[in-house]
Amino acid sequence: MPRYADVILPLPLKGPFTYLVPGEMEPLVAPGSRVAVQFGRQKIQTGIVRRLREVPPGSDGVKPLLDVLDPFPLVREGQFSFWDWMASYYLCHTGEVMAAALPAGFRLESETTIELDPAFAGELSSLSREGLTVVNNLLSRESLSLKEVSDLTGLAKVVNLVRTLIDQRVVRRVEEVRERYKPRTEAVFRLHPDYRSEARLAEVMDLLGKRAYRQLEALMVMAAELRVPDGDWEQAVPLSAFSGLKQHTVLLKALVEKQIVVKGERELSRFGEAGASQSASAIVLSEHQHLAFEALRLAMDAHHPCLLHGVTGSGKTEIYIRLIEECLQSGKQALYLLPEIALTTQIIDRLRKYFGDRVGIYHSRYSDAERVEMWNTVLGFRNGETGARFQVVLGARSALFLPFAELGLIIVDEEHDSSYKQIDPAPRYHARDSALYLARLHGAGVVMGSATPSIESYANALQGIFSLVNLTKRYSEMLLPEILVADIREEKRKKTMRSHFSSLLLEKVNEALDNREQVIMFQNRRGFSLRLECDACQWMPHCRNCDVTLIYHKHQQQLRCHYCGYAENVPQHCPECGSPRILMQGFGTEKVEEELQDLYPEHRVVRMDLDTTRSRMAYQRIITDFEQRGIDILVGTQMVTKGLDFDHVNTVGILNADNMLSFPDFRASERSFQLMAQVSGRSGRRNKRGIVVIQTVQPYHSVIRQVIDHDYAAMFNDQMTERRQYDYPPFTRLIQLRVKHRDSALTSEAARWLAHRIRQWLGHRVLGPEYPMVARVRNEYIKHILIKVEREASVKEAKQIILQAMEEMQREPLYRRVRVQADVDPY
Ligand code: ADP
Ligand code: ZN
Ligand code: ZN
Repeated sequence: MPRYADVILPLPLKGPFTYLVPGEMEPLVAPGSRVAVQFGRQKIQTGIVRRLREVPPGSDGVKPLLDVLDPFPLVREGQFSFWDWMASYYLCHTGEVMAAALPAGFRLESETTIELDPAFAGELSSLSREGLTVVNNLLSRESLSLKEVSDLTGLAKVVNLVRTLIDQRVVRRVEEVRERYKPRTEAVFRLHPDYRSEARLAEVMDLLGKRAYRQLEALMVMAAELRVPDGDWEQAVPLSAFSGLKQHTVLLKALVEKQIVVKGERELSRFGEAGASQSASAIVLSEHQHLAFEALRLAMDAHHPCLLHGVTGSGKTEIYIRLIEECLQSGKQALYLLPEIALTTQIIDRLRKYFGDRVGIYHSRYSDAERVEMWNTVLGFRNGETGARFQVVLGARSALFLPFAELGLIIVDEEHDSSYKQIDPAPRYHARDSALYLARLHGAGVVMGSATPSIESYANALQGIFSLVNLTKRYSEMLLPEILVADIREEKRKKTMRSHFSSLLLEKVNEALDNREQVIMFQNRRGFSLRLECDACQWMPHCRNCDVTLIYHKHQQQLRCHYCGYAENVPQHCPECGSPRILMQGFGTEKVEEELQDLYPEHRVVRMDLDTTRSRMAYQRIITDFEQRGIDILVGTQMVTKGLDFDHVNTVGILNADNMLSFPDFRASERSFQLMAQVSGRSGRRNKRGIVVIQTVQPYHSVIRQVIDHDYAAMFNDQMTERRQYDYPPFTRLIQLRVKHRDSALTSEAARWLAHRIRQWLGHRVLGPEYPMVARVRNEYIKHILIKVEREASVKEAKQIILQAMEEMQREPLYRRVRVQADVDPY
């Protein structure tokens, strides 16, 4: 009797899809197996077997599985429950969840390539005609994609052919090779000895500038990494440092050929083989910490999720480490989630110190191959060995998807952080909320930690849905910083401002620098950066694909769109009125850095934002440099607020509190408080009280007062009043629908249709449609519909209705091509 497999495919379609299991594959297929199937006419897809069944599906003509790709299932049964929950909660398809869950390295698509197996001795007699064609072509070309094999042989289905060739050890999959013989070295580049001087380097740069501008760019990246002229001229720069440049390997190759740089290799320690140097039980908790620790344990025994509200520097991490240790002792695994930018080497080193190579890191900056390896190791298979399993995984939000056997503990650190929410593509999940469900599946404990909890979590804690554990003292009686306000309006009137800096802020910076202390300057997001405006007619340059103004990037002398990446040159004259006076508006981190450098020419000012930290190395270099006091003033965005612990920072400047406070979003006050409190937490160390200067035009704004008083409770109460009044979370749940199409009228019409349809059921709960702040991105028009569901009402039912309306809309011939995205609990 034939058997069938229901297969989940990584597509935004209702699945699963049924395939026939060919007899010879039967012993290999199980739920969780990765398989290759044909989908559509030509396309090969990788899917995961959801279940096997004997009952044939209704229709005949079921296609057979093409291949089983691994000797063991990649996905555990329990993960399916998690995927299904996520799909239904976040209104998307299980296939989309799967696509987010599996490392991209597991995909085998028409783009998969094969090459000759080195074991192949050239024995051609056993090959089929098509096999010969493949081999002949591989003799002259390095590799072939499955699509190319299909074109060359005229076969529609090539997977069986390729599999036979792989079994005969004639060819091998290129991926597999990379997986198996993953290099433990990486390519590095040095300046050729001839160019290790300022004059010679300038000369060759000049030359390249005229003839090979892209190569010059690569060389400039190198110079920046070496920090010439003061830096180390002989230092090796890894390939990864150049990854921000398009076709960087080609550029580097050209530089090597011209003997401007030389290529070498160096050992790469990926998963750090080091053992632990200390035992976690050796950590002596302070009395407060100990009380918190005991309270957390109690709650966990009662299977109750906990919110740990601990001020910055209270030693939450030490408590986590103790909890992790207990979890490991009970033979279970622990997952430690952090926001992406908080996953620094500082925290990695701190965990490694106690747990050594039992710690695995899962990070989106890691390569596909590395993530595949992590997956297999957590699963218990690595290079064919079993049992080598990470017990502690430290990761950003996607680490939730790893194939844990038995989780005992999930820590969600900085639980308020908005980067826990995935914005695009689906599943638009929140990692904290998903962690709660995952923990339930495993019977694991959950600890959510923050110095500034989200309003939602704190409300849950006050209602008893979470246990609340407080840690109100900094470790070793360190004081919370003193927070001062610089009234910008007043200083402008008195003319005491110097450019963007108040006299109060500069006075504190001077004092800090005189005392050989370091300073952090915080400027919210790079988006608030320089724009150009015509002085005569107020014309501003706009993106041609999106409804936003372009941002001026001084370094590249370009105007760029932060939504789609479109770039153009700075115009010499206003295209509207011809005036040559095009002026800059606003100020970003780059400008701040430049002005500070002018004010403090003898000190080192460095900027840390998305632009200066494109590579892992560049980011690490800035941090290490700052730790070693090579930098006096660090100018940064949100990045400086997370996961870093610096010993010599006593003064922090918040340059513009107003652009946070006036952000048009119901979370603006909460976010501003969180950001300011977190930035402030960077100041003040061992034996000195820190100082924070907030620049604002609203010195009496309630949120600023709450930051000054370190009064989280006041902020929380204010916000709860406001949110109750305007029906916002936690009093309601929000669901946002985003309707998109290239035709503006059609977008509006479809959105109106959809809102109307939902309104028939949900009435006044439906708001909109409305244009969002940015109403066109990448040439698509956007309309938003917002649905507010009261807490008491059934969100499940509301979601059913919304889903049904969305499906009805897509069945309308007129709106078939209009896209609708659902965002549940939007952030
Ligand atoms: P939080 O994460 O709450 O902001 P951390 O865990 O980073 O705080 O702790 C702040 C500092 O205090 C760190 O340098 C940490 O090593 C130190 N610390 C906290 N608790 C202890 C302890 N029990 N023993 C030794 N050092 C501690
Ligand atoms: Zn003009
Ligand atoms: Zn754009």
